[in-house]
Amino acid sequence: MDSLVAALQQHYGWDGFRPGQRPVLEAILAGQDALAVLPTGGGKSLCYQLPALVRDGLVVVISPLVALMEDQVMQLQRRAIPAACLHAGLDPARRRDALTRLRDHRLRLLYLAPERLQGEGTRQLLEDIASQGKLVALAVDEAHCISAWGHDFRPDYRRLGQVRRLCPGVPVVALSATAAPRVRADIIRLLGLQRPLVQVCSAKRSNLRYAMRRRSKDPLPDVLAALKRSRGATLIYARTRRSVEHWAEMLQAENISATPYHAGLDPEARQQALAGFIDQEQPVLVATVAFGMGVDRGDVGLVLHLNLPATPEGYLQESGRAGRDGLPAECLVLFSPGDRKKLGWAMQASARNETASGSSISQQHERLELAQQQLRRMEAVAEGAMCREQALLLTVGELVPPCGRCDRCQQGDRSLRDWSQQALTVLEAIDEGSGVDLSSLSSNLSTETSQSRQERWGWLARRLVQEELIRESNDGAQRLYLRDSGRCYLRQPWPLHYAA
Ligand SMILES: [Zn+2]
Repeated sequence: MDSLVAALQQHYGWDGFRPGQRPVLEAILAGQDALAVLPTGGGKSLCYQLPALVRDGLVVVISPLVALMEDQVMQLQRRAIPAACLHAGLDPARRRDALTRLRDHRLRLLYLAPERLQGEGTRQLLEDIASQGKLVALAVDEAHCISAWGHDFRPDYRRLGQVRRLCPGVPVVALSATAAPRVRADIIRLLGLQRPLVQVCSAKRSNLRYAMRRRSKDPLPDVLAALKRSRGATLIYARTRRSVEHWAEMLQAENISATPYHAGLDPEARQQALAGFIDQEQPVLVATVAFGMGVDRGDVGLVLHLNLPATPEGYLQESGRAGRDGLPAECLVLFSPGDRKKLGWAMQASARNETASGSSISQQHERLELAQQQLRRMEAVAEGAMCREQALLLTVGELVPPCGRCDRCQQGDRSLRDWSQQALTVLEAIDEGSGVDLSSLSSNLSTETSQSRQERWGWLARRLVQEELIRESNDGAQRLYLRDSGRCYLRQPWPLHYAA
């Protein structure tokens, strides 16, 4: 048995590596930079943890979320691997303890929030450890956060470009669960990776069954039905802390052991919720999407989103928590056309906060536009006729055949209707009132006040945006303008077949 497998068995109790892990491990141990894109559940963290153990040294991990760090440290401690984290929310006693262990070379893994690297003290400490030859590697987790093209851009990640210069000669490894080719290029460039190994594993998960459908006025029956069908543990994602609390209470009233989980809970309640999720037989965790977590449970049989996810990449990552044991699992999205507007508003609010904390108006503007584009891409997956898996993987630059398992594939040939007459009506209305917003357009077009008619016009207008006949403003106001292609269409229409 080779020494890497021996170390794997000794510390983790596993017999073999998952696809893609070994080349990354070997690159780090050989002192080479690496970019690893391994899907959720693919064992990303092992890629930087094992080198610290094999070398008896320290690996410093930059991680964007405190909860994620705490969770990783907890899991490592359970395996008796010495680990600690440093972030602004840490109490003084734990900070002192971490620093002492660090100076005595008793730590194998140290998790840092990105802003820690700005502090002179931390930098000096790292330089000292590196100069003593004890720093095995620097790992940047969730590395897609560095790219404005990514699904979770974080301004403080931009400053990580300096980690390379901080410890010359120490390999840097960047990791992400999903990163489109454009984002991979950004990571390599912005982190200054030198001749890196690039290891990308397919995000295809052949045991997952995706389904997306409109959320009805009362989604509870749909949620209960999905819970009844599913096996093992369930993750339910809601958009706000308030709706997390609300849904947890509603499910508890139905005698389901549902636990809320969001950043507003105190650390103890969060720990308890996570521990319950790991120990109970059929737990249901209701959480906010914005709140990352490294749930270490293989038999998640259902991942249910109660709103339209904000980006396809983010959705791939969240839904990827289902069925890590390889057995069939369901990923269900219940969405409504209004979700995009609400998400757009939330994004504007958070962009304003960013401006307050120092990023420029033009940066804020650029980011909002990107976020709107991402939302439209996700909506196109949800409302489109394509195989779900195929459409999702295309967004991260992977081309696969239709999966045969998702709701679209199972539907077979849906009866298609030609919508070209109605499309002309929509385009003419936009030609007349350029810049009209989507909801006024749909209410203007419906002669009756019936809500379903209005929704139908709204749906068609969104399809025409996806068809690139109409341009939609990127400020979240959903203002519509005719594209040149739309003008061509008015002169010479062609059939537009959609399932009604
Ligand atoms: Zn499919």
